[in-house]
Amino acid sequence: TELDSILRQSSSKSDDNDKKWDKQDFVWSNNLLEKMGSVFNIQTLRPMQLQTMNVTMSSKDCMLIMPTGGGKSLCFQLPALLSKGITLVVSPLVSLMEDQIMVLEKYGIDATKLDASASKEKVKAVQEAMLDKNASLKLLYVTPEKLAKSKRFMAKLEKMYQAGRFSRLVIDEVHCCSQWGHDFRPDYKFLGIMKRQFPEVPILGLTATATTKVLEDVKKILNIPNCHLFKASFNRPNLFYEVKVKPSAFKETISEMVELIDKRFRNKSGIVYCFTQKESEEVTKELRQHGIKAGCYHANIPTKQKSQIHEMWLADKILVIVATVAFGMGIDKPNVRFVIHHSISKSMENLYQESGRAGRDDQRSDCIVYYRFADVFKQSTMVFTEQTGLDNVYGVMSYCLDISKCRRASIARHFGELWDKSQCNKMCDHCNKDTEGEKRDVTKLGKNVLTIIDQASATDQRITALKLLDAWEGKGAGSLKVRGLDPPKVSRDKLERIIGHMLLQGFIREDFHFTPYNTISYLVAGAKANFLKSESAKLAVEFLNKRRSLPTQNSNTHTSPSSQSDHKPLAKQSDTKLKLVVINSENSKFS
Ligand code: ADP
Ligand code: MG
Ligand code: ZN
Repeated sequence: TELDSILRQSSSKSDDNDKKWDKQDFVWSNNLLEKMGSVFNIQTLRPMQLQTMNVTMSSKDCMLIMPTGGGKSLCFQLPALLSKGITLVVSPLVSLMEDQIMVLEKYGIDATKLDASASKEKVKAVQEAMLDKNASLKLLYVTPEKLAKSKRFMAKLEKMYQAGRFSRLVIDEVHCCSQWGHDFRPDYKFLGIMKRQFPEVPILGLTATATTKVLEDVKKILNIPNCHLFKASFNRPNLFYEVKVKPSAFKETISEMVELIDKRFRNKSGIVYCFTQKESEEVTKELRQHGIKAGCYHANIPTKQKSQIHEMWLADKILVIVATVAFGMGIDKPNVRFVIHHSISKSMENLYQESGRAGRDDQRSDCIVYYRFADVFKQSTMVFTEQTGLDNVYGVMSYCLDISKCRRASIARHFGELWDKSQCNKMCDHCNKDTEGEKRDVTKLGKNVLTIIDQASATDQRITALKLLDAWEGKGAGSLKVRGLDPPKVSRDKLERIIGHMLLQGFIREDFHFTPYNTISYLVAGAKANFLKSESAKLAVEFLNKRRSLPTQNSNTHTSPSSQSDHKPLAKQSDTKLKLVVINSENSKFS
């Protein structure tokens, strides 16, 4: 894959191979292993932690890509203790810094932060410590804004550097540098000057975002083209991945969710992610009415109330947090048993990160997405102006529509990882069901879609996905219906899937129009429409209806019998799933 090739490239560019970084005979090795146990109370290192620490201890630049909760912080906190001088940590959120500093204080490590709230005395004390070779301060946390906006602070760093006390620059959530990433922060761009100002200071970048584009961009922005790249696996073996079809009615979705929570996750802690603040409020209200202890969390909830809700959730007094993506970074509750997406995320990165807040304690946990075709357009109209916004949403749609492969395989491919499907251990809805796909040719149906779209454009009408479906089924505005086109004898759900795949394959595309109040997505013929019309491309649908031998008991030891019960295949549900494959046409970007 692309990522493998940059991983190879960057290690061949450097004079040493990765094996070397595995070793325990560096001058610092004994000290490292000793402090790991005595200070951090950690017995064994996780994959890539030792390599990363050895590279950064060798004063070389490094980027570590590791899933959230994997243990990135140790990779600079432990080296900070082994190095003389101060480690500067750039972190995007004050709350993240506070959490880390609290933990470090518990371990007896001197760490502090400088942010807008720091008093004059505090600033003075820190500035003294930066230059005092007898100071005990080991880690100094700052926001990128502090670096970008305070010339005075940059001047102090200059002095710290000249005094030989600037031991390392750590950039947490380093993907924030890149506009291609999912949470770009303009002030992170400023970090590009750090290598020039402080050439001797090794940079260590940490992130859970691994797309090739973002990594390449970050290397360029930070001026560290030859940095070492280490990547830990993105597989979380204890997470069960599942996609459910979201009913069209809000109340119906809620009652399904309530039943799910009652049956599978009774008295268990979880998160329900919503698309908007309003949605999160409505879902919270409904869940409460059904007797579920739920709390709402989004950006417009007053700060005090937010931390109250967070704390009650941490103490299991609130069981379910219903939140927007504002509930994110830095959440480190170990026993989150489920993450449900009431609406799809805007990218696979987001979906993976949000889902990944489940099961930090390595116990079995479930990550469930409620997918509904109409939700795709809610997202696409929000993000289409972003550079990769639309591709990101389609990535999620592709994940949800794909019934032909292991969910883990889709995730691994997204993160550029090789995947052996036998490793799933039936921990996804695809591997854990007893049906398999059967392809059927639906080229004719696909052509019908194009006929409806063509007629609309020939008569100067715009057509949304909803109107297209109605016209196809013979409902709605007469002018959009096509004379002589019989309504298909296929369920609405299947028709939606066909249109979804046509979008993914470029047979149709979205066309966005602004109104004074919102943005509307219309469907128009795509770049490959003519291939389908001429039947040089075909659409094949995969129905999930063949029986295969029942899966044996899940081999994951954490699986409780009760949590299995709900995973039995539902004939009705699986029957409605289908998958389109294009033959004779290159499988476009998502395959
Ligand atoms: P990340 O920044 O990668 O999301 P953190 O650095 O916050 O993750 O670490 C998550 C948790 O894992 C922390 O509670 C940390 O103490 C723990 N941890 C890190 N490394 C190890 C290890 N080698 N063994 C056991 N626990 C570890
Ligand atoms: Mg972290
Ligand atoms: Zn699987």
